[in-house]
This record gives sequence, structure tokens and C-alpha cells, in this order.
Amino acid sequence: MWPTNPDDFESMVAEPDQVDVGEAWHFLFIGGRLACIAEGGIPRPLTGDDLRWAEVDVRYRHFMGLFRGRACFAAHGEGRLPEGYLLDGLRAWLGRVEPSVFYLAGRAQQLIEWHTTHRFCGRCGSEMEDHPEDRAKRCPDCTLICYPRLSPSIIVLIRDGEKMLLARNAAWPTGMYSTLAGFVEPGESIEQTVHREVLEEVGLSVSNVRYLGSQSWPFPNALMLGFHADYAGGEIACQDGEIADAQWFAADDLPNVPPPTAISRWLIDEFVSEVHAGREGQDGG
Ligand SMILES: [Zn+2]
Repeated sequence: MWPTNPDDFESMVAEPDQVDVGEAWHFLFIGGRLACIAEGGIPRPLTGDDLRWAEVDVRYRHFMGLFRGRACFAAHGEGRLPEGYLLDGLRAWLGRVEPSVFYLAGRAQQLIEWHTTHRFCGRCGSEMEDHPEDRAKRCPDCTLICYPRLSPSIIVLIRDGEKMLLARNAAWPTGMYSTLAGFVEPGESIEQTVHREVLEEVGLSVSNVRYLGSQSWPFPNALMLGFHADYAGGEIACQDGEIADAQWFAADDLPNVPPPTAISRWLIDEFVSEVHAGREGQDGG
């Protein structure tokens, strides 16, 4: 099972009365980077007490909920951090902190990105305010409501017997191959997106599309929905400017693939273990 969002986090909109702000975690972003303190090489968010020593003007603070009983805020500000404090891109936390904490930081980054890009109403231009009951912003003049922005995307591994199709994106470093991915378009079902993206990117048709799991990918706000699908026909034809190369790879002879922190790698690993399990089944029978 893919480790999804933290199950030890209780999402809340209203801040409870007795929050220990000194102990609370503040996922504080300064210039798009996350303020932290590294303990034994592992970064952690600032507590309210840590923040008191920083010369930071906190411009916005948003209560997210409780993580293992500890209050968590997303915040952004400007200023200087004292000695011993660090500013990291969120990507630097990938694989270094436990997954729950990474997804919590990703939640904070998406909320701050949403806040800073939805300060004014898109309909009438008035300044937006936080909705008192929902995680939303509302316009006090024309009542427009905006929710945090998510971009659903599909990511799909195409299989044909014991082989899988992996592709190299034109924008990636040479050598790395991964599963196909693309954004859902307005009006599409997720399954339609899978068929369209596969046809556009590599010219193939697929059948038997099966959903396996999802991953929040906060760069900046994707929700990756992961699938396996069976090859159903066509010859590989790479989309110009998008796919540099696509090939069939045997489960035992993989190219350079993404790290275990990416759902694409999990889709690949799942297929490899299915192939191995199938062989053992045959040996046993
Ligand atoms: Zn408005």
C-alpha cells in the first residue's frame, strides 16, 4: 500500500481554545523556502518558541490541525533567521523526514501558495478573507468562494506480459525513465485522461485500466492518481517536445528509475513483484 497522507493528522479549520502555541509546529515559508532546524541532520519545522528567537515578521498564519496532538500552522513571513536555523526547499525534505511530516509540510506549502496567489477576488478584485467555517477564501463584496487549488493528474504504467513501457521526458536528466503522466482536463473522467495521455505521449492504446493508489505531490499542487493498464495496440510514437524516448523494459532489466519517494517508482515496483509472484506461481504449479 502506498503511504498516502498522514493518518496521524487531524485536519481542523477552527483553532481549538487551548493550543500550546510555544510547542506548536510552524511550517514557515520565507521566499518560498521552508524554515527549519536540523537535528542530527534531519530537518524539523520551527516551534512557536523557536520563532520567538527569529527576527521574522509573520505575515500570515493558518491553522491546519493536530499532528499526534500537536497544533500545526502553515505560515509565511519575511525576515532573518538566527544562527542554526536553515531555509530549505521542500524537495530537500523528501526522503529525509518521515513521510507523514513530508506530506504535512506539503500541505502547508500548498496552503501558503494558495493564500499568496488568491489574495484578491478574481471576479471583483476585492481583498479576499479566510472563510470562518471552511478551508476556503471568500470575497466580502461579491461572496465568491475559492478553495485550495488541486491539480489532479494521472500516472500510468503500461504492461505487456512481463514487460513495461517506460519513457524519458524531454525535460529530464538523461538516463532516467519513468511511467507516463499528465493532467486531467476539464470535462474528462480520470479513465479518459489515461487513454488520451497514453495515446498523445506514445501513440498506444490501452485496456483494463486499474487504479492502484494516489500521492499528493506539492510541486506545486498535483494529486497523482496511479494506474496500471494493459497494452492493447499500436506502435510507439513519441510526442514531439514532450517524450524523448519510450521503450519496453523487462522486469529484470530496468533502466535508471525514480527514487522510492515517487509513486511512479511504486507502480514499477508493484509490477516487478507481480511478475515475480507470477513466476513463482508457475514454478509451484
Ligand atoms: Zn468579489
